[in-house]
Amino acid sequence: MTGQHCWGYGEEDGPSEWHHYFPIAEGNRQSPIDIVSNQAVFNPSLNPLVISYDHCTSINLSNNGHSVMVEFDDYDDKTVITGGPLEGSYRLKQFHFHWGTQRNSGSEHTVDGKSYPCELHLVHWNARAYSSFGEAAAAPDGLVVIGVFLETGGQHSGLNRLTDALYMVKFKGTKTQFDDFNPKCLLPSSFEYWTYPGSLTTPPLNESVTWIVLKEPIKVSEKQMERFRKTLLFSGEEEEQRIHMVNNFRPPQPLKGRKVQASFKC
Ligand SMILES: [Zn+2]
Repeated sequence: MTGQHCWGYGEEDGPSEWHHYFPIAEGNRQSPIDIVSNQAVFNPSLNPLVISYDHCTSINLSNNGHSVMVEFDDYDDKTVITGGPLEGSYRLKQFHFHWGTQRNSGSEHTVDGKSYPCELHLVHWNARAYSSFGEAAAAPDGLVVIGVFLETGGQHSGLNRLTDALYMVKFKGTKTQFDDFNPKCLLPSSFEYWTYPGSLTTPPLNESVTWIVLKEPIKVSEKQMERFRKTLLFSGEEEEQRIHMVNNFRPPQPLKGRKVQASFKC
C-alpha cells in the first residue's frame, strides 16, 4: 500500500492488509459475517421491515474504483426504511454491489458457509439524529445497510437497465446520469431478515452499521453477472494496466460474541 487511502482487493492492498491503515478492521463489530442460521435467535418482537421506495429519485451511476454505485437524492424523507429493528426512519443514500469471478463466490455475507455470486447493499442513514451522511457514518446508530443476495437463475428484468448502462462507467472515477431508477425492483418478495450490529465492509470500516440481511435471494442470469465481471474495471482510463473489477468482497469476520437475530422461525 502506498498511501493511507490506497486500498483495494489485490494481493498487496486487499482485506488482509487493511488493518495496517484502518486498525478498526480488527474491532469487535466488523462485517461481513457468516450467518449460522441455527444460531440466529428468532425475536418475535422484531417488527416487519417497511421499505418505502415509491418516490425515490436516483441521480447517477458511478465507478468509484471499488464497486459500481447508484446515488439518490436524500434531502428529505421521501425514500426511507422503517420498522424491523429500527427506531425511526433511515434515508436511502446509495446502493452498490460486491461480486466474484464465478458463481461460487462474490457475496460478502455467507449463510452457513455458503457464498452467493453477488450481494447488493442498499445504504441508508439516520437523518433524524444526524445532519449529514458523513456524520451518521461515524456514529454507532448512524447507518443501516440492507443486504440482498443475488443468485444465478433466470434473467432479472429490473437489473437490465443497470447492466445496460455499465459500459458508461467502465473506468474508475467515471460517472453518468442515471435517473428514475427505483431499487424496489431489486428486492425479493419476502422481507424476512437477519439483523446484527456491524460495520462498513470497506475502509474506513466504521462500526456504524445495523445490518439487515434479507433471507430470500433475487435471481439474475449468468449473462447479467458476466456484464459486471467483464465490463467494469478497477483501473482508471489513464492507467496502462487494465484490471477487471471482480472479487471486490471482504471475507467474513469474527462474530466476537455478537448475536444475530432473525425476524422469522427456522
Ligand atoms: Zn457494500
